[in-house]
Amino acid sequence: MKKSILILYTGGTIGMAKTSTGYQPTSGLLAKLMAEDRVFNHTDMPHYDIKEYAPLIDSSNMTPQHWNTLAKDIVRAYEQYDGFVILHGTDTMAYTACALSFMIQGLNKPVILTGAQVSLVEAHSDARENLISALLLASRYCFPEVTILFNHHLLRGNRAHKIDSIGYNAFLSPNYPPLAEVGSELVAHPQLFCAMDTRSLAIHKYQAIALTHFTFFPGLSLNTLETLLDMPIRALLLRTYGSGNVSTEDKKLFLLLEKAIARGVIIANTSQCLKGQVNMASYATGQALQQIGVISARDMTPEAATVKLQFLCSISSDAAWIRQQYELSLRGELS
Ligand code: ASP
Repeated sequence: MKKSILILYTGGTIGMAKTSTGYQPTSGLLAKLMAEDRVFNHTDMPHYDIKEYAPLIDSSNMTPQHWNTLAKDIVRAYEQYDGFVILHGTDTMAYTACALSFMIQGLNKPVILTGAQVSLVEAHSDARENLISALLLASRYCFPEVTILFNHHLLRGNRAHKIDSIGYNAFLSPNYPPLAEVGSELVAHPQLFCAMDTRSLAIHKYQAIALTHFTFFPGLSLNTLETLLDMPIRALLLRTYGSGNVSTEDKKLFLLLEKAIARGVIIANTSQCLKGQVNMASYATGQALQQIGVISARDMTPEAATVKLQFLCSISSDAAWIRQQYELSLRGELS
């Protein structure tokens, strides 16, 4: 029997048309172009329905409310479909993939996000290829996780990072291999898929919480960090050097962070390096952070390190629990 896929169309370049003010999402255009294209009606392709959101958005406008809506719509249609393809702008696609991976509990069907660097209306677009690959993969393999399909590679969504604002190879999974490749054949690697999620199907909703980043660079002023920590924030992500190191020259840094941790601010350490991982035990300049209670994002992408902190703070106010959960793998986001 033909598999059935629900396409959730949020916006992005994939279905944009050229207007006098630049490319903009255009309602109805994508469904029309797909209906006219014989490939999408080929016998090898699954049956698909399209749910187009209004308004369609550039993904720079994505918010936790949109994530809640997407999760709710997937769960509502869960029994009717074999898989889900989310059409999304590339700018925040990795954030949405992370969010959905954490918030949908008991997900055991494929959810694939895809989009394009060039709109489907253009002759040299990558949209058609990405869309065909996503539909084929979602209908042929039952991987129980949220993924990103781009430029012939299926990546774990919470391991993916946008690396190119123009090129077709827009996403990289720096610390986890691709789950599948699309070439003359579809090649999947089931041993890399997430284990089935045996919990019952449910959604944990996101809230926008007061989280911020602080990036280290030589010559920074600690006054800016002091001002940041004077604000009522719940969580702070430090973007440190190498394996999680910072300058230990000025002890004021540690006093500021220690004071914030004591009042319940969750402070996590993520590296400015994309590949490899935070290991605060490696150097004295990292151990100093570990000793005052900074937690580690290990080998999470910047998107996963951020969204996971937001997620845990959304669902709990217990700092000890959040700190413990952050360093554990919830849905394969860290090694
Ligand atoms: N700005 C667009 C978006 O993220 C870029 C894209 O779709 O690739 O919606």
